[in-house]
Amino acid sequence: MASFDFDIGIIGGGAAGLTVASGAAQLGAKTLLIEKERALGGDCLHCGCVPSKTLIRTAQVYHLMKNSSAFGLPAVDAPPVDFQAVKKRIQAVIDKIQKHDSEERFCSLGAKVEFGEPFFRDAHSVQLNGATVSAKNWVIATGSSPSIPATEGLDYTPHITNKDIFHIDQLPSSMIILGAGPIAIEMAQAFSRLGTKVTVVQRSGQILTKEDKDMADEIMKVMGSEGVVFLLNTSVLQVKDLGSEKEVILKNGEGKSVSLKAEKILVAMGRDPNARGLGLEGIGVEFDRKGIRVDDRLRTTQKHIYAAGDITGAYQFTHAAGYEGGIVVSNAVFHLPRKTNYRFLPWCTYTDPELASVGMNEKRAREAGIDYSVWTEPFKSNDRSLAEGEEVGKIKLLLDKSERPLGVQILGPQAGELVSEWVAVLNAKVKLSTLAAAVHPYPTLGEINKRVAGTLLSQKIFSDRVRRGLKFFFNLKGRACEEGFPGEG
Ligand SMILES: Cc1cc2nc3c(=O)[nH]c(=O)nc-3n(C[C@H](O)[C@H](O)[C@H](O)COP(=O)(O)OP(=O)(O)OC[C@H]3O[C@@H](n4cnc5c(N)ncnc54)[C@H](O)[C@@H]3O)c2cc1C
Repeated sequence: MASFDFDIGIIGGGAAGLTVASGAAQLGAKTLLIEKERALGGDCLHCGCVPSKTLIRTAQVYHLMKNSSAFGLPAVDAPPVDFQAVKKRIQAVIDKIQKHDSEERFCSLGAKVEFGEPFFRDAHSVQLNGATVSAKNWVIATGSSPSIPATEGLDYTPHITNKDIFHIDQLPSSMIILGAGPIAIEMAQAFSRLGTKVTVVQRSGQILTKEDKDMADEIMKVMGSEGVVFLLNTSVLQVKDLGSEKEVILKNGEGKSVSLKAEKILVAMGRDPNARGLGLEGIGVEFDRKGIRVDDRLRTTQKHIYAAGDITGAYQFTHAAGYEGGIVVSNAVFHLPRKTNYRFLPWCTYTDPELASVGMNEKRAREAGIDYSVWTEPFKSNDRSLAEGEEVGKIKLLLDKSERPLGVQILGPQAGELVSEWVAVLNAKVKLSTLAAAVHPYPTLGEINKRVAGTLLSQKIFSDRVRRGLKFFFNLKGRACEEGFPGEG
């Protein structure tokens, strides 16, 4: 039997790679983790989820300060934002989490961490820092990078991406954001709330195109009322560097050419897989511009080499990367065949209001040709929501023809937290009657979950048929009050 230096080698120390490394090492596999940057943690920790959510919270607090009078408080003339101070807070949060993702911690779990950029010499060995290292199984978890379009002038016009946005020196006075996916929209609202004049340019007629249009449009309405300008059905023709300002020439919905100028351009137009430079072409691991090709056990076209996380191009979320890391551990270390199942993979866009999703929305149900019904409940009927000053949004529950839940979409305060109850309900196949009957604390936003399930059931309980049955068996006398006052015409 061939002998290798390691049982498993992992390339990339982000959410997917760290999950595999921690699981494999703790199960007793001789584990090697290779990371090209100087610190572990990947995009999520250094230029993704963690800095973005920290910035969003800061922007939310500033927004509340500026809107204090809506809460019955004295109006505050908030001084301008010092972005250096904001950056300090972001870095402090990263530093705290970094301890959990440190080389020392992974070493204590039993994994060897090496820093460098490996290159596959053959299907079992990589060249790393001048040495050759072999492993029985490999995992490619190198993540993704911002996709930069081939727009005229963009390559020689300074622009920023998620890699730079949390490190800029001062708050820009104006910013044009190219793209309208979750990263673009979250950053648009946060920077606008901090004081930047933000314009979002989107090729199609909707922001957050994976979401249902009614939900995405509601977010656009809220952000529009806060001052963000949206240019939909608009494509970018050319970008120019004018020195302290950048110019973007656009073609709008009517086919007219329009010029926009701003201090910064943020490019947030999707992600490219970090698949190049690893030598994958030479060892028969297939990939395209979306990512590395994997089967449902996350095996690449070389069965002993796995891929997990953003690099597969499937669901580009930290929790998806972690989930896939677990699938790889099961298949490669436990040798327990396990397949991916994304049916109830949730996600959330952290705008205010948040938009969370699990299972099918209307768009996906229509695409799949599934007949569905929609049950909704607005946040303005939720007592806690009113107390919090939050009146925008709703929950949408989609049911199939047999009234089984297909999915839930929540647009509203804390939607990302609220969707977790549905994650449990859908995965455990909990009956809607059980959810509707379960007592939820009052007053909480979570009551909206119980209420939407209850709306469906109450239609059955309070039906004419049930009323007639009760009248027959228990001699009920019917309505005590007729509509309208006596004497009213
Ligand atoms: C601004 C922003 C906000 C986001 N917000 C959220 C959110 O709120 N929630 C959420 O779930 N997801 C969010 N995401 C997505 C999330 O960050 C990714 O889905 C997640 O980081 C993917 O994990 P990964 O392990 O696949 O890749 P990564 O975390 O990117 O890790 C890949 C690692 O591989 C290393 N690497 C790359 N090439 C090589 C090489 N050749 N050799 C060695 N090492 C290499 C990289 O340096 C990196 O450390 C956000 C992303 C961005 C950009």
